[in-house]
This record gives sequence, structure tokens and C-alpha cells, in this order.
Amino acid sequence: MTRTVVNKWARLLADSLFPQQCLLCRLPSASHLPLCGCCAAQLAPNQPCCQCCALPLPPDSHSLCGACTQCPPALDRVLAPYLYEPCLGHIIGQWKFQRQQHLSSLLAELWLAGVDPPQDRDLLLPVPIHWRRLLRRGFNQATLLAMALQRRDSALQRLPLAERTLRRQRAAPAQSTLTAEQRAHNLRDAFTLRAPVQGRRIALIDDVMTTGATAGTIARLLKDAGAADVQLWCIARTPPPTT
Ligand SMILES: [Zn+2]
Ligand SMILES: [Zn+2]
Repeated sequence: MTRTVVNKWARLLADSLFPQQCLLCRLPSASHLPLCGCCAAQLAPNQPCCQCCALPLPPDSHSLCGACTQCPPALDRVLAPYLYEPCLGHIIGQWKFQRQQHLSSLLAELWLAGVDPPQDRDLLLPVPIHWRRLLRRGFNQATLLAMALQRRDSALQRLPLAERTLRRQRAAPAQSTLTAEQRAHNLRDAFTLRAPVQGRRIALIDDVMTTGATAGTIARLLKDAGAADVQLWCIARTPPPTT
């Protein structure tokens, strides 16, 4: 009997003994995950979106957004299968700010349900947080997500998890309070590269993409150091204010 089959039976047994409650509606979830099928179906898919930066686009759009058409960004591709809306925001908030680290598994499964992970990556690189924030929060959510993805996908499991390749050297005020222009200024020189990335095809991992300033800054840094291709893998994309 393979390990996968044993794990499956162990999970079925655990589900029947300890049924999970849905995080959103509080009803039994009927699976090993704390989200019922009904609530999972309510999560808004980020479709259609820009094939490069994953910006949500109006219905019947099938290509690139205006910004990516005019000036290709340093990030080669963004995989963000959901829109950052209140239901998903609640789950991510519980995970990040209420110390419910076990929700990493749920978020990894949601990501894998919405995306076919590219098989051409050389390494997974979680977006780092400053050590003071790490000390306060106790974990880097991007690292937890990367580890959860690796537990669930054997192809990803083979990739190195480059936790120390990048360092966030400067504490920054909460990015969500800043405008896009302030963020770009704030991020300048915030990251240092501590390992060679020449020729590597990198998957940056983060939870949510808001303006893309952080991921864009890191992608530029990695490309300047010779990285061949940089993608951002995140759970959700914040819709632009006009949609
Ligand atoms: Zn539910
Ligand atoms: Zn775009």
C-alpha cells in the first residue's frame, strides 16, 4: 500500500472522527478542509485577467492590460487565481493576523484548484518580511504558503525553497496605507540579494498582490542579477478601484 493511499485513508478516518467546520458559514465542511463546497464556490475567480500581470479585465478581454502592452514589466507572469474579496479576505486575515497557520493547507489547495503550476521553475522564493515583523508575527506567511504548496504537489516538492536568497533589510510602514507612488519610493533599496540567481527561473511566492510594487521591485532586482524569468504566484489579486 503506497504512502498516498495510507494518507488518504488516514484523512478519511480523521474527517469522520473530527469533522471540520466551515470558516465562513460555520456549518460542517464535509471535507478535511475548513471550507464547505458552497462557500468555496462563492470565491471570485480572477477571470478574465491580464495574461502577464493578472490585473482583472472586463468580460470578453483575452489578452494583456494597457500597462503591460505599453511597457512589459519585470515580472514575466503573475498567477493569482482569485480576486481579493471579503470572503477570501476573511480567510487570509485569520491565517495571517489570528495566527491560524493551519489555514496554509486550505490556501495551498485553493491555489492548486485554480492554477496549473508551471513545471519549468528552478526554485521557489517566498517574498521576505523584515525580521521585526517576523518576530512580531512569528512566521512569514509566504514561506508557509510555499511549504504547503510543496506538501501538496510532488513536482513542487522537488524545487529548492530559497528562504535566504533575499533579505528585507529595511522595515517599512504597512504598505496598505500607502499610495502606489509612495510604495515604489518606499521599496527602493528595501531588498538585498544574498545568493546567485543567474539563469534561474524563479517562482516568487506571496499571499496577495495589491499594486504589484513589492513583487515588481524584487523581479527587477532578480532580473538585474541575471535571473532568466520571474513569476509571482499568489492567492489573490486586488481588483483595481474602478471595477
Ligand atoms: Zn461554508
Ligand atoms: Zn498587465
